[in-house]
Amino acid sequence: MSLRKDKLRKLIEMQGFTDELELVEAALSDAVCPTICMNPDCSYTEEMEPDQREGWCPECKTNSMMSGLVLAGII
Ligand SMILES: [Zn+2]
Repeated sequence: MSLRKDKLRKLIEMQGFTDELELVEAALSDAVCPTICMNPDCSYTEEMEPDQREGWCPECKTNSMMSGLVLAGII
């Protein structure tokens, strides 16, 4: 759980949002959502489907990308 919190915080920072709510609102009003790689040493981000839980990270070559909405517990 704390990894998810860390990753969510990092994703918010990297996308230039001030808080979780801002990221969630932006993601809900768009067809894509900021996603972040869940591997501990990687912070690759990309926009993917809002319900993405195992997106492909080109840095790690693993299916480790998770969307901000999933991280925030919205979906
Ligand atoms: Zn990665």
